[in-house]
Formats: sequence, C-alpha cells, structure tokens
Amino acid sequence: MFIISELKIETVKKCITLEKFDVIVVGAGTAGCLATKTTAEAGLKVCMLERKRREEIGEKICGDALGEHHLKTLNLEKPQGGELEKRIEGVKIYSPDLETVFTVEYEDFVGYILNRRLFGQWLLKKALDEGAVLFDSTQCLEPIIKKNFVTGVLAKNLKTGENIRLKGKVVVDASGFLAVVRRKLPKEMGIENEVANEDVEACYREIRQLKQETKDTKYCEIYLNQKVTPGGYMWIFSKGGAKVNVGLGVCMLDKFPNPKNQFYKHVLTKPLFAGSVLLNGGAWYDPTRRPFDNMVGNGVAILGDAACLVNPIHGGGIGPSMLSGYLAGKTVVEALEKGDVNQKSLWPYNRKYMEMYGTKQAGLEVFRMLLRTCRDEDLNYGMKCKLLTEEDVLKASLGEEFRLKVTETAKRVFRGLKRIRFLNKLRLTANLMRQVKAHYGNYPETSENFEEWRIETEALFNEARSKLIE
Ligand SMILES: Cc1cc2nc3c(=O)[nH]c(=O)nc-3n(C[C@H](O)[C@H](O)[C@H](O)COP(=O)(O)OP(=O)(O)OC[C@H]3O[C@@H](n4cnc5c(N)ncnc54)[C@H](O)[C@@H]3O)c2cc1C
Repeated sequence: MFIISELKIETVKKCITLEKFDVIVVGAGTAGCLATKTTAEAGLKVCMLERKRREEIGEKICGDALGEHHLKTLNLEKPQGGELEKRIEGVKIYSPDLETVFTVEYEDFVGYILNRRLFGQWLLKKALDEGAVLFDSTQCLEPIIKKNFVTGVLAKNLKTGENIRLKGKVVVDASGFLAVVRRKLPKEMGIENEVANEDVEACYREIRQLKQETKDTKYCEIYLNQKVTPGGYMWIFSKGGAKVNVGLGVCMLDKFPNPKNQFYKHVLTKPLFAGSVLLNGGAWYDPTRRPFDNMVGNGVAILGDAACLVNPIHGGGIGPSMLSGYLAGKTVVEALEKGDVNQKSLWPYNRKYMEMYGTKQAGLEVFRMLLRTCRDEDLNYGMKCKLLTEEDVLKASLGEEFRLKVTETAKRVFRGLKRIRFLNKLRLTANLMRQVKAHYGNYPETSENFEEWRIETEALFNEARSKLIE
C-alpha cells in the first residue's frame, strides 16, 4: 500500500513523471474503490485520486442504508466491524396524512444502516490491498484529451498547491455528483455533460442523538408529503440505540424550497426530536434519473453518481455505484488485455450495467414521474383505498411488472371513482414501465447501433413526461 501524498513533492513529481498508469480512478467513493479493487486485482497498475484526506474517505452526506442483496451480488462478505450499525428488516412508507402505512418487507429491503466512514475505509482497504496507489488530498482538475482519447488527468496536490499530470490508458470518473471528468469531456466523446435540475434531489440530513431510544426501529421510515418535500420524501433511519439518520430531499424543479429550511421547520419540530443533539449535518445532491444512456468514450468510463446510477424512487446509490465499479473494472481489464481502449472496447460495461440494474432504474424513472405529480390528496386516498397497493410499490421497486389485472382494475375503478384521474395515471404508468423495460431489453450490443436506440429512448421518455407530468 502506498500513500503518495505523504511523500515530499519532489518524490511525487518523480513518481508521476516516471510512471504511466494503466488505470486512473478519480474519486475514492464506493464506485471508485470497487473499480480500483477490480482492476488492481487483475494485475493492472492502478492509481486512485481523492481530494479528501485518507482518513476522511468514506464520509458522505447520506442516508447510510444499504440492501444486503447488493453485497451478495458483488460477492462481498458482510462487513464484521463497526461498519454496520444496524440491521433493517424493511421499509415503512407513510401517507402524507400519516393515516396509512405501507410496510414493505422483502429480501430486497433487508439490509444495513452503515457507519459510512468506516464502510468507506473498509472498501478502501480492499482496493489498496490489491496494490493500487492512493493519491489522497489530490483534486482532479480536468481530463487530458488527445485526438479524441482521454489520456490522463491534470490534478492538484492540495497539501503543496502544486499541479501534477498523470497519464493513464483509461481514466475512470468516479467523482460522484461533481463528475469532474465527465463535465469537461468534449461533445464528440458521445457522453452527456450535464444533468437537468429536475433530475436531481437537493437533500439535507442530520445524524442526531435522541433523548431516548424509539420503540420500533427495525424499519427504515419514509414519509411522503408534497408540500414539505415536493418530488421527494423525508426519512428517519435508526442507527441503533437512540441515534438516527434523519433527512429530506426535494426535487430541484422551479423555485424548489431550501431543504435545510424545510428540515428545521417541518421535521425537527416533531416531538421525537425534542431535546435531541446534533452529531453531524450537511447538504448534498442525489441524481435520481435513469442511468446515462452511454457511459463510455475513448479511454474513459463514467461510474456511480457521475453517471446517475441511483435508484430514482428511493435515491439509493451505494449498491449500484459499487456494481458499476465492478462491471466497469472487469470491462477495462478485458479491453486492456486486447490492447484497445476505444469506446467500442469499453461498450460491454454499458450493456452489462443496463442488464443488471439500469433497466430497473429506467422503469423507476417513469414511476418517479407518477409520484412527482401526485397531489397529497391523491396519495392519501390512493394509499388508504388501495388504488395503489403495497404490492405495486414492491413490484415497481423490484423492477417487476405491476400489471393491473382486469378484475382487480374493476375493483380499483369502483373504489377509485373519486380519483379516476389518479387511477388512469396509475394504469398509464404501468404500461409505460412495461414499454421501457422491453426497450432496454434491446440495449445495443455494440456502439454502432446506439444512436437509433438513443433516439427511441428519448421519444419514450418524452412520451412518459407528456402523459404523466405536463
Ligand atoms: C442525502 C443523501 C442520502 C442518501 N442516502 C442513501 C442511502 O441511504 N442509501 C444509498 O444506497 N444511497 C444513498 N444516497 C446516494 C449515495 O450516497 C450515492 O449514490 C453513492 O455514494 C455514490 O457513490 P459514488 O462513489 O458514485 O460517489 P461518492 O460517494 O460521492 O464518491 C465520490 C468521491 O469522489 C471524490 N471527488 C469528488 N470530486 C473530486 C475531484 N475533483 N478530485 C478527486 N476526488 C474527487 C469525493 O470526495 C468522493 O470521495 C444518498 C445521497 C444523498 C445525497
């Protein structure tokens, strides 16, 4: 294990000018650590750049919840140390008037509340144990591009203030929402540079010590309320004992409310928080849309939040970011074995990710459109009278079809006469989700057929937007 930033700058300069890396990973978050581990264990020469100090790696404004199935998919053992603060058995979803509670218990919702810093350190160790080099306190400034290939990065050593150049055969952007490499790629690279505000949740969260432990703490609690959290939700996740992770997110559409103000006005005023103590607080962004249609270019791959790989309904992105790190890592290894790192050679990462998680995310973007436009009255009535059921929520979030059967639809229509518009939207959503799923089943095998597929994707989501939102 090497920590370059602890060496003198002369040594760093020497090391950098002498060495060219096979892979440069920008960002030592969950995506970056998995990409580093996967490429380094295959014997490649890998470095990871991180603007934080080594001991801060893992700290993140987050809900800290991770589904157990993500660890199983990646063949990662359950962490044994202080990384895991609490086991969770499912999710409780509260209607805006708090009169109806959906309890969703299924293996996909069983998981853990993490100590985020220690979890990050656990992943970091796994990456460095494979022989990768860490440049901590080092901020990537921009990609270096030659003849439409990314060939390295320009970075700044934050301890000495000096700029450094790193050369690499492949650059992996795992810098999270900031996406420092992606945002500066030329258009010809074929990767989107920007994310629309309406696809981002502005969040504020705190970790608080309550006066006393709450009774029922085995579920993550999610509270829907369009007035307080337009296009988002509020959460309370127990971290064990009397400690909770509590926060909210709002869709960054139009004149969206300030999440911290909403938090102090509507959340901390609840009796539960009387006399509680603030342990840690902060704001950050969660990109809740479908994955980027294309995440690779010549000599570059985009991962995790930088490629919008977050579950569009609940905003969970730790699992998908690790999956992207693993899949991109495997693809980079194969591409380097063949000796070509152009977009065509890196394409399998796109296809594998869409197959394993991206299709589900794309369907959920449609479901998010439905939720975003629901009025509180619709949600109250819809949840209470079972126009929208726990099973729908479960199936939708698993990426499965929730087809409204004929008999069932008739029953729902009967119950839903007062809310026929809502019921129609629900049926439309189910149909659109099915179409999206079928379309993603045809994700192109190679980059050649991509443009046709991309145009169809845009048309499909424009249709969904016009039917569900506008
Ligand atoms: C409030 C909130 C709550 C959330 N709750 C949950 C939850 O409960 N469960 C869940 O699964 N997901 C949750 N998420 C989403 C989750 O945190 C992210 O999806 C996940 O961390 C993405 O991992 P990543 O590695 O892509 O990015 P990050 O974890 O953001 O890592 C990026 C890394 O890159 C570094 N970096 C950035 N810029 C540079 C640069 N220029 N040079 C060098 N390094 C750089 C950063 O310091 C950071 O370490 C939440 C998000 C928010 C905002």
